[in-house]
Amino acid sequence: MHNIRRDVMLARYRSYFRLPMIFFLVIGVLVINTMFLSFLSAKDEFSAGGAVFTVHFDTPLALEIGKGVLVERNGGTIVPDGMRGGVLRLLRDEYLGLDLRNDIRSKEGTLMLWIRPHWGYYATDQTNFPVSHTFVSMAWDNNAYFVLSDGWWEPEGAPYTYFVAHNQFRAHTHKDIRYVQDEWMLLSCNWKQGNSGFVRLYENTSMVAESLTFNGSSIRPKGLLYLGCDKGTSPRKDRWADCDIANLAIFTRALDDTEISNLWNATRPMTLKNSVDVTVPSDSVSSQTRDDRGVILETRAIFDEGTEWMTKEGAQQTIARIKKAGFNVYIPCVWHGRGARYPAKLAPIDDKVTLTREDPLAHLIDIAHQNGIEVHPWFCVALRQRTFLGDYYTLFKTPYNAFDVHRPKFRAFISNVIEDVAWRYDIDGINLDFIRTMGLCKCHYCVQEYQRQFDRDLVADSTVNNLGHMEPHLQQWQDQAIEDIVRRISINVKRIKPGLVLSVDGHPRPRVLPPSWQGRREIKWANDGLIDIIFNMDYDRKPDFEKHALVLQELYHPNQLIMLLGNYDMISKKQGLPRDSRYFVQLVYSVLHRWPGGVGIYLYNQLDDAQIDALAQGPFKEKAEPLWTNCPSLVH
Ligand SMILES: [Zn+2]
Repeated sequence: MHNIRRDVMLARYRSYFRLPMIFFLVIGVLVINTMFLSFLSAKDEFSAGGAVFTVHFDTPLALEIGKGVLVERNGGTIVPDGMRGGVLRLLRDEYLGLDLRNDIRSKEGTLMLWIRPHWGYYATDQTNFPVSHTFVSMAWDNNAYFVLSDGWWEPEGAPYTYFVAHNQFRAHTHKDIRYVQDEWMLLSCNWKQGNSGFVRLYENTSMVAESLTFNGSSIRPKGLLYLGCDKGTSPRKDRWADCDIANLAIFTRALDDTEISNLWNATRPMTLKNSVDVTVPSDSVSSQTRDDRGVILETRAIFDEGTEWMTKEGAQQTIARIKKAGFNVYIPCVWHGRGARYPAKLAPIDDKVTLTREDPLAHLIDIAHQNGIEVHPWFCVALRQRTFLGDYYTLFKTPYNAFDVHRPKFRAFISNVIEDVAWRYDIDGINLDFIRTMGLCKCHYCVQEYQRQFDRDLVADSTVNNLGHMEPHLQQWQDQAIEDIVRRISINVKRIKPGLVLSVDGHPRPRVLPPSWQGRREIKWANDGLIDIIFNMDYDRKPDFEKHALVLQELYHPNQLIMLLGNYDMISKKQGLPRDSRYFVQLVYSVLHRWPGGVGIYLYNQLDDAQIDALAQGPFKEKAEPLWTNCPSLVH
């Protein structure tokens, strides 16, 4: 613990003191001012944009309080780090109180500040409960409050960043903003009262949450604006910002999206170039495993959801392109919820493909193996994209576009289909996608069976508590159905090919998050030896590395987790474009640098020539063989 200093300063807040008191205070303030306050009225980007109050914290040991509004100081230091000069560092128990009663109105306004958290989004306390962090808080005249806080109205609100412009007028909005430790972010909120009123929350340049209600009369702040704690609110719970802060600015009007975006650009820290993407530690991978011959062991997997590989030319071209890029594992989708894309014996053929006399999957595997590339056929287990196999679902009762994973005959069917592929083809692995319930089935069978098994009502149990946990019986019901499919497939395919790699595409959830409602228990399956690999699907431009690291901590065998990155950006809800190759390889470097041993890329039809060249000349320059070692021995 650091020393807590409590300097009550400046006369604007407390207007009356006895004369000697004022004398000492004035001297004190002057001295302290030399140290902490600089009355700069510098024209800056914020004041140019109409800010009525700005503070930069950018001169050493100085708080630039333009109008001398610093009233209460409880710790806090200026550190020469990060922005264009210094920044304010507030640790736990530290805050500043600013008298901004003349600058803030409930009628309309914008508040923005740059923050750099000393914690990550998933930070928890000793009881494994998420820790909340309040950036700004203030009381209104009518005993209501204003707050901008990571975590509020806990426990339900713990995962969200809340902007509450006025709690009594119900003017609030929230979003699960994913903070990254030691990374700068511009947090902005704006508000307007009246018939066309609103409250909005911005993360960097994007509006991430909005509520179109802010009624009530215009009011003034009652007390100080507290920076770094929730002291300005009645439900105080010691929620410390515990972060670095720069450039607090207040406006008396609600800035629009463009203005906020421009201010982000004009005031961003020097370390942030012109995007908010990940920063990459270096352009080399720090520690690669090599075998006795000196060959790098590193899984480089590419997922192909399309069907080009089904023709002879398509297979040749696909394998040639991914080989050129440096991939060593090819994961072609052979079952996308509408039947098999190979001459299956136990299931219908995909109605969108045409099978010729030659077996496309056998041909593909030949070509891939000739080129030193493994093949892991990919199955979308619960996905149903066609009206067929009618015994395995009930329309309008089973989740949309899904098979009913609770029906034992469906579980037997899909496991047999997959087992058949392991029998008939020289495959190196099996990949399971849509290995989840896709919702809750309320068909006659499920209702009856649930009643029989638990002596409970399925529909009545279909609730989620305020912490995001399902009713425990229902959780078990969902979990057991999916685990049964995983177990059947695992046992059967490993019996046929003991060295086969069984992987799943998942969203593994660390302990701090409530379990999946869809029976996804990737960490448990891996730790129980049911699966070899979890591909952690994260196609975001800025993948959630903190979550990946937390999941890794819960796995007995760290090589079982592989980040599955996207190589495209969505330009609309339905259309993606190949991701800029320079940024794309930076991401790959970044993953391999942090977690050497493997990376997966989704998706082949977005892999353009620029990305292939960038991989071949960059992270995949040297040949590698897949790293599946260290996988535990599977149950048999
Ligand atoms: Zn059902």
